[in-house]
Amino acid sequence: MENCLFCKIARHEIPSTIVYEDEDIIAFNDINPVAPIHILIIPKKHMVSTNDITPDDVDLIGRMFTVIKTLAAEKGISETGYRVITNCGPDSGQEVAHLHFHLIGGRTLGRLVSSQP
Ligand code: AMP
Ligand code: ZN
Repeated sequence: MENCLFCKIARHEIPSTIVYEDEDIIAFNDINPVAPIHILIIPKKHMVSTNDITPDDVDLIGRMFTVIKTLAAEKGISETGYRVITNCGPDSGQEVAHLHFHLIGGRTLGRLVSSQP
């Protein structure tokens, strides 16, 4: 998509610190990390969010998770632990409208969901 920030990163039109790339997937360091390891894993094709995933994407999404697993191992956080997050839509606070998984680790992470409603 012409004016999508992450499509531009996938096309190498905007600089980023790429940590993995293949034909369909690219992963790069988050520009504003919330933990020592904070990587974004995205499909190169434009999809807004999980709402756009179809049965045709099963292989792609599965491969994205094998990339996440491999990156976690490379970064040394497989055993210490990590979190994978994707935001979808306004209530989640999704800022970039191109599907991405956050891989976050390297420190103790707080509880994701509080007991408060
Ligand atoms: P989300 O709120 O789930 O849409 O997350 C968007 C993420 O993209 C945020 O964590 C931002 O810090 C990150 N981000 C925004 N612009 C860039 C960029 N040019 N390179 C790397 N990460 C970015
Ligand atoms: Zn895009």
